[in-house]
Amino acid sequence: MLRQRLWMIPIGQWVGYLGAALALWALWEGLSPWWLLAWASGHVLGGLAISVALHRYFTHGAFQTTPFWHTAMALASCIVLQGSPLAWAAAHQTHHAHSDGQGDPHDTRLWYLLWKTYRAVPMVRWRLQALLDDRVLKAVHRNALVVALAWVLLLLALGLATGTFLAPLVFGYLAPMGTVQLVGAVHQVASHRGGGARDMPWLEWLLPAAGEWRHAHHHDHPRDAQLGRRWWHLDYGWWFIRAIRTK
Ligand SMILES: [Zn+2]
Ligand SMILES: [Zn+2]
Repeated sequence: MLRQRLWMIPIGQWVGYLGAALALWALWEGLSPWWLLAWASGHVLGGLAISVALHRYFTHGAFQTTPFWHTAMALASCIVLQGSPLAWAAAHQTHHAHSDGQGDPHDTRLWYLLWKTYRAVPMVRWRLQALLDDRVLKAVHRNALVVALAWVLLLLALGLATGTFLAPLVFGYLAPMGTVQLVGAVHQVASHRGGGARDMPWLEWLLPAAGEWRHAHHHDHPRDAQLGRRWWHLDYGWWFIRAIRTK
């Protein structure tokens, strides 16, 4: 049986938080503010990896795409240190099946902003069977950490080759992962306040999450690949899906 990799999530969270602190310190020390563009781009891409790849595609099967994008999204899912699509899908399906109840693995206490752990509940497994039949996903699950480390080495090599040293790694990966993790944590804590899923699309402008702030809509229609219905819902996850979907 494949083992869960949810333990990666709080580690990824703190690698990201420390990366963001390092990036702010480097800017304070006089590094060019142009590096903020790399941070913003990384934040958008990381948000897409979670919202489009892990959430809408692998977990909910909300659209179909080509083998190229299937593989690219599987790799991206590991690079954002979310424990591979198999682990994420099981936890998230369980959240949908038991949201706000005893069987919900999601913790909505403020503590989650600092340490992303999940409540130990029996996991819903029906979605896993379809994912387990997928050779790409099985390989990626077994090598999730290797994929993430390969990405780190690639960015380090880029820094050495261009004389920018740690900047591509910190601003292109670690700092964006910090803000993606922070937004994800606030989303989990805030979107189920008051005993049910909530729609707060205006928060997309403050804490961009690729369209995920329409969470009540998502719980009502989990297989709807389009979360936003108005331009100001800023569902850039859907804009990306429109470009890569085949069905
Ligand atoms: Zn929810
Ligand atoms: Zn969902």
